[in-house]
Amino acid sequence: MPEDCVFCKIADGRIPADLVYEDAEFVAFRDIDPQAPAHVVLIPRAHVPTLLDLPDRGAAGGLLLAANETARRLGLAESGFRLVGNCGPDAGQEVPHVHVHVLGGRCMGWPPG
Ligand code: AMP
Repeated sequence: MPEDCVFCKIADGRIPADLVYEDAEFVAFRDIDPQAPAHVVLIPRAHVPTLLDLPDRGAAGGLLLAANETARRLGLAESGFRLVGNCGPDAGQEVPHVHVHVLGGRCMGWPPG
């Protein structure tokens, strides 16, 4: 685990965050720069830099199921939600700890920016 990883620090409580869901493997917290009425960042507790570094299908599937649970807890199951996974420079990934954005609470355009 890199000592300077902001998401590792949130996962272990060294940086405060507005948590909306957590379990043994994942933590979901409200984004500090929300792009929708509901905007939550979901991370695995284990430090993995990008989506491409997820070790196996279990890890990837667990992330997706935790995103579903996060969306349910945000009350987005009926209205719908969007999952965004930025991977690498062209996608604009800013934090090199794999994460999925859970966005909802408004209608969203397509294609994304
Ligand atoms: P990405 O561009 O996919 O790497 O997105 C990283 C997201 O993390 C951005 O939407 C940031 O606003 C968010 N973020 C960064 N630091 C924090 C923090 N300390 N608490 C909550 N969200 C954060």
